Amino acid sequence: MLRLFKQIVRHKHAPDHWSVVRKKIHPTDKALAHFDDFYRQVFDKSWDSIREGLLGKQKYVAVVNNYSDCEATMARLELQGALNVRTLFKLEKQYSKERRTVQEKQKVLREVRRIDRELESRANEPKNASLQASLDDAELDHRRIIDSKNALSGEILHEFVPATKIKGKEDFIPESTHYKFYKNENFEVFIEEEFDLHFPEHLNVYCFEEGNRSDFEPSPSGSTGVLDYYMMDGGSVLPVLALDIRPGNTILDLCAAPGGKTLLAIQTLYPNRIIANDVSMSRTNRVYKVAKQFLYDLNERWLQPGKLMITNFDGRSFPQENFDRVLVDVPCTTDRHSVKENDNNIFKPSRVKERLKLPETQCDLLFNALKLVKKGGVVVYSTCSLSPIQNDGVVHMTLKRIWEETKIEVVVADLAPALRQTKSVFKLANKKIMKYGHLVVPHLPQNYGPTYFCKLKRIK
Ligand code: SAM
Repeated sequence: MLRLFKQIVRHKHAPDHWSVVRKKIHPTDKALAHFDDFYRQVFDKSWDSIREGLLGKQKYVAVVNNYSDCEATMARLELQGALNVRTLFKLEKQYSKERRTVQEKQKVLREVRRIDRELESRANEPKNASLQASLDDAELDHRRIIDSKNALSGEILHEFVPATKIKGKEDFIPESTHYKFYKNENFEVFIEEEFDLHFPEHLNVYCFEEGNRSDFEPSPSGSTGVLDYYMMDGGSVLPVLALDIRPGNTILDLCAAPGGKTLLAIQTLYPNRIIANDVSMSRTNRVYKVAKQFLYDLNERWLQPGKLMITNFDGRSFPQENFDRVLVDVPCTTDRHSVKENDNNIFKPSRVKERLKLPETQCDLLFNALKLVKKGGVVVYSTCSLSPIQNDGVVHMTLKRIWEETKIEVVVADLAPALRQTKSVFKLANKKIMKYGHLVVPHLPQNYGPTYFCKLKRIK
């Protein structure tokens, strides 16, 4: 028996033998199988395209460093065919406004033609009433609401007036659509629509247009000795824009390493003070490294005056408070990394516990962030996962806890109207499957993300 056992052991193949390699299930395989199973239920027919994007080549944007030769850098990036994201947003905003105006005009014209036909057929009736009598009988038609801001030509308006009465702009957006009200498990969540996404004047982010898969070259150093631009997944820009940073703000980046979003916030030139925190000491060193690469005179201009502080607390018990803005870019399943890299993969068998505890950790971090922000301040919660549990689910759980355990009041900002301007750069998940936040979904021609972000405003 013992001899037989020895024989079996002796014939075991080496770890690199084809039959062993073929059978081994890697963390990336496990991640993909998990996502196939779960995300197909969530994204339905869109999952195939998202999956293709997730496995395909990721796109980057280049964030121009204001502490290097920024004008020359912008000119160089433009020569390479890159486009300024702020300009693209502006053009899309203008275009959709014009498109809305044209659609409104077409709607009015269709209505005018319909009324013309109706009047004509009435005129042909044997006992027809006079035009004046029919106008006198016309009632206010609430379906025909005209947005007075959309420049309807006087001519069209003139033709339209006799048929019915025009209702003005005053209650064009009824309160009920402006504030949606959810009643859930005995707690209430207020959602407020936002129509604008502030793009700071000094923040210059470059991308290649939809379908263009060119790469940015590694950044050279400029005359001040720091790098000209920082490359990051384009999706990462939106959580920072959603923070709505304003001049003089004090900002806390609760889970900051390696520091990409901290750097983006600094590039707005708005913050008075910024704290980049991370629980991991080795990862806070990466924040130092990024700061050193991009901010000249790091010690004298940034660290010593305390304009930038790099701290090493557990975000769940971060000690200070009263920040104007808090970014909570939590640890998550990092979906793109999980399907592509076996190193440091959260789907490794040894990390099962950590993975299953993620929503709880995320919830604790967001809960603390809402306590750390001042009244009137903004918290943005973000992940790089497609999971509705780690995204809207965590926001939901945290809002419930805030409602039950504190006197803090929070409003969720629905950025959907404001995000229309981002359409030419980002592919966002259908609003119907999102409850609170927004999700940049991977998609080959615009292959950014996944990036989930939800803006929360503390009102009390
Ligand atoms: N915001 C970063 C950026 O844009 O470069 C990426 C942040 S990464 C998604 C999540 C980070 O959270 C990791 O660096 C991890 O070390 C950190 N982290 C995990 N648990 C934490 C905790 N309890 N408190 C603070 N940071 C934590």
